[in-house]
Amino acid sequence: MKLFRTIKGRLLLSILVIHSLLMGLVIHDLIDRQHHFMTQQLLRKATSFVSLLSSNAAMPMQNNDLTALGDLLKDVGALPDVSMIFVMDTDGRIRASYPEGYFNQTLTDTVSVKMLKGLESTGKDYYESNHDGLTDVIRSIKIGGQAIGYCRIIMNNATMAGELTLLTRQGVLYIIAAIVLGVFLAWLVVRQMTSRITMLSEATAQLTEKNFDVKIPEFKGEDEISKMGRAFQLMVESLKLYVNKLAYRADHDELTELPNRRLFLDRLDQAIKHAERSGRHVAVLFIDLDHFKEINDSLGHLIGDQVLIHVARMIQTHFRDIDTIARLGGDEFSLIIDSLEGIESVSTVAEKLVTLLQHPICIDKRELYVTCSIGISIYPNDGELPENLLRNADSAMYKAKSEGRNSYQFYTEDMTQKALERVALEADLRRALEREEFRVYYQPQVNGISGQLIGMEALVRWQHPELGLVSPVKFIPLAVETGLIILIDRFVMRTGMMQLKQWHDEGLNPGILALNLTIKQLKQDDFISMLQEMMEDTGCLPKWLELEVTEGEVMQNPEQAVRVLKQVSVLGIKLAIDDFGTGYSSLAYLKRLPVDKLKIDQSFVREIPGDEEDVAIVGAIIALSKSLHLDIIAEGVETQEQKEFLTANGCEQIQGYLYGRPMRAEDMDQMLREKTVWFTET
Ligand code: C2E
Ligand code: MG
Ligand code: MG
Repeated sequence: MKLFRTIKGRLLLSILVIHSLLMGLVIHDLIDRQHHFMTQQLLRKATSFVSLLSSNAAMPMQNNDLTALGDLLKDVGALPDVSMIFVMDTDGRIRASYPEGYFNQTLTDTVSVKMLKGLESTGKDYYESNHDGLTDVIRSIKIGGQAIGYCRIIMNNATMAGELTLLTRQGVLYIIAAIVLGVFLAWLVVRQMTSRITMLSEATAQLTEKNFDVKIPEFKGEDEISKMGRAFQLMVESLKLYVNKLAYRADHDELTELPNRRLFLDRLDQAIKHAERSGRHVAVLFIDLDHFKEINDSLGHLIGDQVLIHVARMIQTHFRDIDTIARLGGDEFSLIIDSLEGIESVSTVAEKLVTLLQHPICIDKRELYVTCSIGISIYPNDGELPENLLRNADSAMYKAKSEGRNSYQFYTEDMTQKALERVALEADLRRALEREEFRVYYQPQVNGISGQLIGMEALVRWQHPELGLVSPVKFIPLAVETGLIILIDRFVMRTGMMQLKQWHDEGLNPGILALNLTIKQLKQDDFISMLQEMMEDTGCLPKWLELEVTEGEVMQNPEQAVRVLKQVSVLGIKLAIDDFGTGYSSLAYLKRLPVDKLKIDQSFVREIPGDEEDVAIVGAIIALSKSLHLDIIAEGVETQEQKEFLTANGCEQIQGYLYGRPMRAEDMDQMLREKTVWFTET
């Protein structure tokens, strides 16, 4: 049986056998003693009965008073356990008996003969014998020392047997109860003991599987197993420490304490898996120090090591938010930039790295210049496996070296080209601000039913000296990323406000001026004071202004948007949500935002009334604006048909080429002077 192969089973079995044997022996001995005691007692009883009888029977025997003898026997015969009584003369003839019916007979059976002979041969007054479960005692009846007969009493041991049977039964019951109780108690003890042993053996098995996080519950108490349990847990802790050191050493570079190639590839693998699920990009930057060998050769390895440590610390402190910085060996480092939404920002990081390393490094009061070359590969474009991405970043790094070092290169030509363009564009944008190359255009917003002008949107343009007029779509995203948008928007705001004030002063009615702002702008600490100052400077009233923020930006961080937009609305400036319908608004936040107007994105306007889906979406946005008591305007309205559909469905405010393209201030000025109604039905 399987149970008896376990310690628990064996212990229980031994306890069961020993317990039953001992209990059996004890009970058996007890019954035996009781039997002996009761037999003695019966004999004593028989002896005293027979003595009583022999003295009381002497007189009636001598007088041959058979009636008195009979009465005497009846009295004694009624006593318990008495089976038979005989009173005989010296010849053995029966004078009286109990039960009656033996008168004058002589008992010739072997036992009776043996009893009489026994009495004679011993020369004593009485003789006793046990046979067939009976106690047989004979005694002479004497008068004046002369025997005149015998009296014999035979007693049965029925009462004794009954009591012994009862005792045996009870004994057996006690044995069973004691065994059950004993085994149960033993089972409890054994279980407590073996459950802890089982825990220990399972934990040990886990250790062999290299799971060093095993934990057994604390064994309280002072018994051997408890002590062993505590010692085991201590052993696991120190083993864990030891193994984790070992593991750290296996995964980290000893000199710089950065992750090594092994851990780097592991982390890259995780980043790839993560990006695969989220559909994002991962960039791998391979950094190699320029002319490091010369430092090593001329200044020695100790200085070389110091340089490497210094570079590692510098990268670590400047790129806290980057997931992994590793030293791959020698003077090679590598970075992972995880969860990239757009690839463009990688070049910003690469550039920062190149610039950072251009600073001199001070070691032993000596200034050293260590530049670097960087190669970049992007998942999934340049490879889907960690090893491939690293290899391609490495080969891109060689390209950077061959291009003259102190620079970075993407693995794909295309990316390098884009990165270069980006860098050039950024520099251009800065220059454009200095040279005041930005222009503000104005696009009319009209009431589609009355044809009256209600306002205009200020839209920025870049008057590039070579490229001509550049659309904001081309430069706004980079301006937002680099933060230049803050300066650009402030320029547009100031220009727009000045223009508005001028029109008002000239008695024209330009309506409300809508200004596009990014959340980045609104988050500036000085934004509110700057806005107030600008209004004071230009003489522009808050009620003439409306700020537009795109739905996408608002919903990226709605809590924050609620906070800053509240501050703006307190000034009395209107707020509109631009490109509405593209940004997955949460209705809960929409209700809390202090906005006045929703601007239906032009992508939904383009296909109405032909496209059923767009018709449904536009209808839903209009219904939403009504239920939230918000104004509604549609942008990108180019045709009469679109306008009619919108006005018929409750969206009266219209912006689009139908009423006018974004135009220079001079053109708008002329329109304001000439037109009172912008579009009349023909
Ligand atoms: P937006 O704020 O949604 O502006 C509407 C865009 O739709 C403008 O493009 C406008 O020229 C164009 N548009 C207007 N009516 C029509 C039409 O009937 N048909 C078509 N196809 N297009 C129409 P634009 O001027 O190229 O500006 C693009 C985006 O750049 C703007 O979208 C806005 O998000 C941003 N932007 C423009 N100026 C500024 C600015 O000064 N600051 C900031 N932060 N963003 C600006
Ligand atoms: Mg806008
Ligand atoms: Mg828009």
